[in-house]
Amino acid sequence: MSRRNSPWSGLHEPCRPLNLADYHAPANLLEGRTILVTGSSEGIGRAVALSFAAHGATVILHGRNRERLESAYDEIVAAGGNEPAIVVNDLKTATWEDYLALQESITAEFGHLDGLLHNAGILGRRSPVVDIPPKEWMEVMQVNVNAAFLLTKALLPLLQQSEDASILFTSSGVGRKPRAFWGSYAVSKCATEGLMQLLADELDTVSPIRVNSINPGATNTAMRRAACPGEDPSTNPPPAAILPAYLYLMGPDSRGITGKAFDAQP
Ligand code: NDP
Repeated sequence: MSRRNSPWSGLHEPCRPLNLADYHAPANLLEGRTILVTGSSEGIGRAVALSFAAHGATVILHGRNRERLESAYDEIVAAGGNEPAIVVNDLKTATWEDYLALQESITAEFGHLDGLLHNAGILGRRSPVVDIPPKEWMEVMQVNVNAAFLLTKALLPLLQQSEDASILFTSSGVGRKPRAFWGSYAVSKCATEGLMQLLADELDTVSPIRVNSINPGATNTAMRRAACPGEDPSTNPPPAAILPAYLYLMGPDSRGITGKAFDAQP
């Protein structure tokens, strides 16, 4: 099998950089790939979608806020990227039928799907578990976990048609080890890790699809500022600084790696 000449190309395939933050993606890394990024209207998802497009992918932008999605669309087109698609969809209220309709429209428009980044998420209330109103708990689970399950289930047939598909779930430090007062968010991220591991194990021997999780680490976004209002936001890197790990895990250099939990920041 031929491979690009990258610092991580070695005798054995696939190769994994010791520190994903050091990965240098070639400009055409994602050429020919169609990739859906949930929650790409702002924050990390927006920066990742722009970066995927800059590396040759056709991105499907997803979120609730059409104006912000259109601004990401304009930025991609202005930079000479492939024309993206926009999906306006509220993960809190979307039904199974909505996900099936999305699958049909991606099939009609692109015929294949090569990557799915579950990035959208909500923080919920940071408080002791017993103080969380049940409705708020359910909403966090709906957006962060149930929606990821439904979207994956709906899009799996399309991903299975790709020769080299990657599904990437977004975790968090508290999804690896919950900490007090991170509430439903922490539990939803633990469930996200569980879903990733389950799916990776089920697909391992029957499909080339790889399934992994990424913890972005503290990043200067609206969510982080809401989670840690006492923190100086400038102490955390901007989303644009954490992109190498996303590129690595979505591109062909991570082929064969599945069921693993990664950190975007060292
Ligand atoms: P932001 O709050 O900045 O952005 C969240 C994105 O999710 C937005 O694009 C938003 O789009 C979308 N979204 C939220 N709710 C919904 C919904 N109901 N339906 C559809 N889209 C929705 O978050 P970050 O960029 O900080 O976080 C991105 C991911 O990284 C999340 O999964 C988060 O848990 C994780 N993470 C972030 C860390 C950080 O320090 N920032 C650290 C660890 C993990 P719209 O407003 O258009 O709906």
